[in-house]
Amino acid sequence: MPTRSRVRPGDPAWPSAATWQKLNQDVGGRLLKPESPFARCRVTPLTAACSEALQQLTNPYFIGDQPALTQTSGWIDAWALQSSPYGVAARGTADIVAAVNFAREHNLRLVVKGGGHSYQGTSNAPDSLLVWTRHMNEVAMHEAFVARGCADMQVPQPAVTLGAGAMWSDAYNAVTTQGGRYVQGGGCATVGVAGLVQSGGFGSFSKNYGTVAAGLLEAEIVTADGKVRIANACTNADLFWGIKGGGGGSLGVVTRVTLRTRELPETFGGMFGRIKASSDDAYRVLLARIVDFYQGALFNRHWGEQIAFTSDTVNVSMVFQGLSQQQAEVTWAPLIDWVGAHKEYSFERPLKLLALPARRFWDPEYFKHHAPGVLVADDRPGSPAAHVVWAGDKEQVGWFIHSYQSAWMPASLLRKDRQSQLVDALFASTRHWDVGVHFNKGLAGAPADEIDAARNTATNPGALSAFALAIIAGSGSPTYAGLPDVISDPASARADAGRIDNAMAELMRAMPGAGSYVSESDYFQSDWQTAFWGTNYPKLAAVKKKYDPDGLFFVHHGVGSEAWSEDGFARLRR
Ligand SMILES: Cc1cc2nc3c(=O)[nH]c(=O)nc-3n(C[C@H](O)[C@H](O)[C@H](O)COP(=O)(O)OP(=O)(O)OC[C@H]3O[C@@H](n4cnc5c(N)ncnc54)[C@H](O)[C@@H]3O)c2cc1C
Repeated sequence: MPTRSRVRPGDPAWPSAATWQKLNQDVGGRLLKPESPFARCRVTPLTAACSEALQQLTNPYFIGDQPALTQTSGWIDAWALQSSPYGVAARGTADIVAAVNFAREHNLRLVVKGGGHSYQGTSNAPDSLLVWTRHMNEVAMHEAFVARGCADMQVPQPAVTLGAGAMWSDAYNAVTTQGGRYVQGGGCATVGVAGLVQSGGFGSFSKNYGTVAAGLLEAEIVTADGKVRIANACTNADLFWGIKGGGGGSLGVVTRVTLRTRELPETFGGMFGRIKASSDDAYRVLLARIVDFYQGALFNRHWGEQIAFTSDTVNVSMVFQGLSQQQAEVTWAPLIDWVGAHKEYSFERPLKLLALPARRFWDPEYFKHHAPGVLVADDRPGSPAAHVVWAGDKEQVGWFIHSYQSAWMPASLLRKDRQSQLVDALFASTRHWDVGVHFNKGLAGAPADEIDAARNTATNPGALSAFALAIIAGSGSPTYAGLPDVISDPASARADAGRIDNAMAELMRAMPGAGSYVSESDYFQSDWQTAFWGTNYPKLAAVKKKYDPDGLFFVHHGVGSEAWSEDGFARLRR
């Protein structure tokens, strides 16, 4: 029996129109009723608004500008996008305080959205009040930042403060392209900064710079009691620790984050190509060669991103830092020579390597001239030039998930005596589905001080001794309500999900009990507390209890959510 239920529209306790109007005044007229730009397109597809919206369907900046949309459009048998009846398009901390107080006082379900990239659908909820931080995207650079109250224990260091609604494209433009420095952020340019810090967060170069959360110096956060708190190593240190990887939307609303910045290396670069094997036997041998090559040549601070293994190909999509073009070429030469010397293998796409000045890595102007099409711009009139996205990330815009699973791969699997176990698991897994191995999302091989910094966050300690995160996922085209030609075949989506289950089960044979990355994980993960946070969960639960004892903040499989019904409306136990 529920011990408490939140209020829904139509319930007698749902706020009256006048009460909503009062909130609207309190937030300077920024209360809105989110409506999907596609909502009317099935009925009236020929309007200008609909045709513009349909044209922008694969533009993540357009999707992100819509309070009613999220970057993933749903997940089979898990969640379907449903927007809130009301949302506050916050411009500052005071708007967020007003929204949090309103939700608490009226016993409403509250939902927070920044970049809208949650795969688990945790930034939308029907019958909720939405706090939308999109417009809080200011960026300020610091030459000598000291967290508040930390003057006695911290030396001033370069840093950047980002509003909660800023995206990584905003951060990289200010810090790297304009500022000539580095900040550890995410791989995908349109992910929100506050969401990623709370995820733990891995970027392309995390093998050298560690997790995003570990670079956090300070945050401002509005907690369930409506108080504006500073969280850093000296003030509210437990909350600070919880924000660093404890999962978004569970501890409060983060209004801004300050992250350390670093010196840029000379170069960043990429390596791309695809090798195909002519038979299963040859593929097994290729897998063994790749695993051994990775262990010997790439398992270090220089190399990140991923290799995707299909049933008969190895698809390399990696990045490097701090190596010249020549050093990177020398690194790969033995593998390229080996492939070339064996007739069982062919290059479906030749392995090609490009180093560039690190400062130009996110610079749209540079890419326009040197690698057109790799960075795709937000093409709407008036969009900031820095609003670009990697062409590869566009595939995920609006996608409908059939299944998504991840597991941290322990570095012990790279030992010579265990490599065959890893190869067997990869081979068996790829009989069912493609396996992505994201080397930058496991910290083994990173510098010791970066691993130590990540140890001081809520992120699952399993990430520290993993050489990679395996991701196995499948999806279909967008299913936003109102789209004229949504193709949805539930039976085939479920069949995909079954195959992905089988693929992950094969991989897990080699790494039983491996944890999973909270923000890139299975909606149906049954042991989620342990899988997402490992031994950190009890401490995280204590932080939740201290700052949000009544559970104002709820997300699916977020800390403390076990006390609530699946939809977060009924409290089941204290
Ligand atoms: C295309 C794509 C690429 C990705 N690439 C990477 C990657 O390279 N590395 C990586 O580590 N992860 C990656 N992810 C996962 C992603 O980083 C996380 O889902 C992250 O939490 C998204 O943050 P957001 O603000 O964009 O999303 P949202 O959906 O807005 O937020 C995610 C969660 O955080 C909460 N939240 C958002 N803002 C706040 C706030 N201000 N205060 C409190 N809670 C808040 C939301 O309620 C929600 O629960 C990717 C996801 C996608 C869809």
